[in-house]
This record gives sequence, C-alpha cells and structure tokens, in this order.
Amino acid sequence: MDPFTLVVASSLAAAIMAGSMGLIYRAGSRQPCLRDWMMAGVFFAGNNVIGALAITFQVSHFLIPGFGNALYLAGHFGILAGLRRHLGLPAGWKPFAACAALIPLLHALPFLQSSVTHRLLLFTPIIAAINVGVAVTLWNHVRRGEWAPYLPLAILELFFAFQLSLRTAYLILKEGHALTFMGSQFLQTSGTLFVLVFLSVATMGCALIVTHQQAQLLRRASLTDSLTGWLNRRALHDLAAAEFRRCRNNGAELFFITFDIDHFKSINDRHGHAVGDAALCHVTALASGALRGNDALFRIGGEEFAVMVNRSTLDDVCGIAERLRELVAGSPLQCGEATVRMSISVGVAQRRAEDGKWEDILGRADKALYCAKQQGRNRVALHGRDLPADEPLLQRATA
Ligand code: GH3
Ligand code: MG
Ligand code: MG
Repeated sequence: MDPFTLVVASSLAAAIMAGSMGLIYRAGSRQPCLRDWMMAGVFFAGNNVIGALAITFQVSHFLIPGFGNALYLAGHFGILAGLRRHLGLPAGWKPFAACAALIPLLHALPFLQSSVTHRLLLFTPIIAAINVGVAVTLWNHVRRGEWAPYLPLAILELFFAFQLSLRTAYLILKEGHALTFMGSQFLQTSGTLFVLVFLSVATMGCALIVTHQQAQLLRRASLTDSLTGWLNRRALHDLAAAEFRRCRNNGAELFFITFDIDHFKSINDRHGHAVGDAALCHVTALASGALRGNDALFRIGGEEFAVMVNRSTLDDVCGIAERLRELVAGSPLQCGEATVRMSISVGVAQRRAEDGKWEDILGRADKALYCAKQQGRNRVALHGRDLPADEPLLQRATA
C-alpha cells in the first residue's frame, strides 16, 4: 500500500480523534480527561503530518524523526494521562514533558541517526510500556463489575503493544533488510495501518468511557435526593425489590427503619424554609454517621426517611433505631443565633415469611412510626411489640 496515503489517512483519523474529544467536551460533558485525549489526537496528527512531509520531501534531518517520535510518544501518553485523570489519579504530564523534551535531542546521537532499527529498538519498549500501563492502570483502579466500558480500550492497548513486539522481532530477525529512512516498505505499511486502526478504535473507546460515565452520573442523579444526598423513592423501589427477592429466596432477615421529624412544620414556620432545609440536612448527616455503611438510606417524603437493613438481628436493628433517636434528640442544630432542637419518631419492622413484597415490611414500619407519634413522639416503636402484629393501619397522627 502507498505509505503516503496511509500516513495521510492516519493524520485524518488522529484529527478526527482530537475533534471528537473536543466536541464531546464542548457539548457539555466537560470531563477533563477529554482534553488529554484531544491533545493525544493532536500529537498523533502532528506525528503523521511530519511523516507525510518526510515521505514527500525525503528529508533526512535528525530532528524530523526526533520530533516525530516525541509526538508519537506524547500521543500514546495522552491516552494514559486522560485515563489516569478519569480515574482520579494525577495525569503525569509534567514528568512526561520533561523526558519527552529530550527526545529530539537524543536523535542527534550518531547511534540513533545511523539506523531506523536502533530508533525502533529504543522507542518500541517505551511505547509498549505506555500501552501496557493503560491496561495495568485499569486493572488496578476499576472494580471488577465495572469493566465493560473500559474493555475496548484495554484490549486495544494490549493488542497494540503485542503487534509492536511482533514487528520489532521481525525487524531484529530480518537485520540487513533494506531499511530506508522511514523503515522498510513492510514496516512502514504495517505500522501506519496499525496506527490507523489504533486511532479509530481509541476514539471509540475513549468516547465510550465518557458517555458511560455521563450516563452513570445522570442515573445516580435520578436516584438521589438533591437536598440530603440520600437515595430517593425511585431508588428505594429498585433496591428494595431486589433485596426483598434475595432475602426471601435465602430466608434471610430484612428490616426497615422509618423515621419522621417531629413537629417539623413548626420549625419551618418559626425559623423559615432555609433553616428547615438545614435541619433536614442536619438530621440526615447525623443519621448517615450513626447508620452502618451497608445500610441503604432513603428520603421517602418531605421529612420522612427509611433505612433498609439486612444482615442483622432484630435486637441490633432496635439498638440502631434507639441510638439514632437519641442522637437527633441530643444534637440540636445551631443556626446563627437560633438553636433548633429536634426529635424523631421511629418505626421498625422485619420481614415475615408471608410477606409477598417489600412494601409489606415498609408498611408495617410506617404503622409503627405513626404508633410512636400517637404515643407522644420522640420514641421508637417496633411492629409486633409496641404495636400488635395484627393492628389495623393507624390514622396518621397530626401535629
Ligand atoms: P409530625 O410530628 O406529626 O410529623 O408533624 P410535622 O409538622 O413534622 O408533620 P407535617 O407532615 O404536618 O409537616 C411536614 C412539613 O415538612 C410540611 C412541609 O412544609 C415540610 N417540608 C416538606 N419537605 C420540605 C423540604 O424539603 N424543606 C423544608 N424546609 N420543609 C419541608
Ligand atoms: Mg414530621
Ligand atoms: Mg411527615
């Protein structure tokens, strides 16, 4: 195949990578990793433009492969840097730039000027290390269940490192093969073809990672209450249905604790809605601290909350509910001059063998909660203890 055409095609693929990353960034997702990947595209494009010029004009100054190789390395590093930034790690551009600045100068060495083989033998392991570095970074920092959007990029990088090794082995075995300034016809053609494929798939792989992250953020936002950060009713529906099925199949315990702030309306009336909001956040922050990490916390109404607890005993759950009540009662919110004292009424219920759906447990916890309200508030009521198991639904207590 005509090397010039291939190099031009690779430049276009690199430009498309840079353009796509920039457009996705500007379209609103604004993930900083897109800027690194856009720069990677620009570096790859620069490398290919230098290649096209070198082929056209047959220039053999040492700075041509010097800058070409520096840009090529920067392109590969850009993909790794973006991925690191995406995973919350430092991108590492500064140390890379310090090393890459030396690359054009290195090409002044007679050892590197004299042979394409020497240049390939020096740079191929570095590029392969960056490629493998992408896969290793993913392996170390992505949880096993969340691999799907990263797989194309990981496979691509490993495949690229593999083909680099194969082509280097070919070069070593075929020593004495007529190498032109840019390498033999076979090396040139296969190399640019691989780069062309690499750039096309890398563009798709990077786009997949950011669009998947964006979708995850939107999904999380749709399941989260924006004021308190607790999960909302929709999330409760999804999680509780799955957890209920699991517990019923395994015969495991499942509990709901529901709680409601007492006389919350009067807090709003006395201090204003903003203090009311702060009070809601205060209570949820206290509760988040008191409840264990694996309990799912939900805001199911204005000032009504539910906690789904599994892998626990009834005594433990009642203990948790009582601690929560004491904590809220003993930790008033200080808002400027005002001290806002609060209490909560708490209902607890556990799964019964005859329950057909999770709403049955939550309904009983709710009954217990309104029993606690009726008995004077600021207390915990357990369905089946403080409220007989066959108690009809109590009317909601009014303030
Ligand atoms: P009880 O002890 O019976 O629970 O009395 P209560 O006043 O807490 O109950 P009620 O249901 O009468 O009042 C709930 C109030 O919560 C009414 C509503 O204005 C307020 N509220 C609901 N959502 C929010 C919110 O997001 N922010 C604020 N500030 N207030 C809210
Ligand atoms: Mg209330
Ligand atoms: Mg209420």
